[in-house]
Amino acid sequence: MSRSVLCRKLNKGLVSSRAFFSPLNVPKLNDEQLAKLLQCDFITRSSYILSAYIGDEMPLEQVTECVKQAFNFPLVVRPIEENIASLELYHGPTLAFKDFGGRFMAQILAQIASNQPITILTATSGDTGAAVAHAFYRLKNVQVIILYPKNKITPLQEKLFCTLGENIHTIAIKGDFDDGQRLVKQAFDDEELKRLLCLTSANSINISRLLAQICYYFEAVAQLAVENRQQLVISVPSGNFGNLTAGLFAKAMGLPVKRFIAATNVNDTVPRYLSEGKGVA
Ligand SMILES: *Cc1c(COP(=O)(O)O)cnc(C)c1O
Repeated sequence: MSRSVLCRKLNKGLVSSRAFFSPLNVPKLNDEQLAKLLQCDFITRSSYILSAYIGDEMPLEQVTECVKQAFNFPLVVRPIEENIASLELYHGPTLAFKDFGGRFMAQILAQIASNQPITILTATSGDTGAAVAHAFYRLKNVQVIILYPKNKITPLQEKLFCTLGENIHTIAIKGDFDDGQRLVKQAFDDEELKRLLCLTSANSINISRLLAQICYYFEAVAQLAVENRQQLVISVPSGNFGNLTAGLFAKAMGLPVKRFIAATNVNDTVPRYLSEGKGVA
């Protein structure tokens, strides 16, 4: 994959309204590599993991720089009771795990985009908008447009991304998240608009966000005592299942996870799709 291909992929995010990018080959770690990696600090380990996906298109030092800038807040495995702990991913600027993906995406785009202005277009049900807005706030040559369902996000979320101004533009739409997502997909299917505005998506299935999220699964295991790393079950609060997908990539790389539980609430588009076999768009 050439540098320009990587650039195009990161820029594009979604292939079309019906597909998204996924690595063809998942880098596999043997036991020795895994043990070594788990001993590294979070930044070193995350840089290595992301570099394994990015390949020779960006030197490790440059990836490390992005990781350092992006993951600049703590993450903690907090014991709850015996054998149960919570991975706290909400210590970033917008208090959601999406800060990891959003901030890494912003850093990497800033590194590879030439001086061409780009437009990030994304729909949000709340947390994505805040994370993306903060991650891209005041980045040169980037305009961010966020669609969100009017009256359907919390006042805190609304304040988090609607009050920034400058290069962050927000639009409240009538309808729900899926209506916003549909408008975004429609824009991406419009080749002329896409080219004219250099449209880029930042939704949770954007490959750069997804890859960044792999890193905290490794950190979760690294923070556990070695004797507690067997039979690990991870329950993942799930919406679009991007977070879960990142966990599955971590497992495919060799991270010892016995199983994942995808926990959903009323935001149940994926389970509905699985049981009814019908898409939303
Ligand atoms: C985004 C988000 C989810 C859903 O994540 P997906 O990757 O879409 O499955 C769940 N919980 C919280 C708090 C979130 O911010």
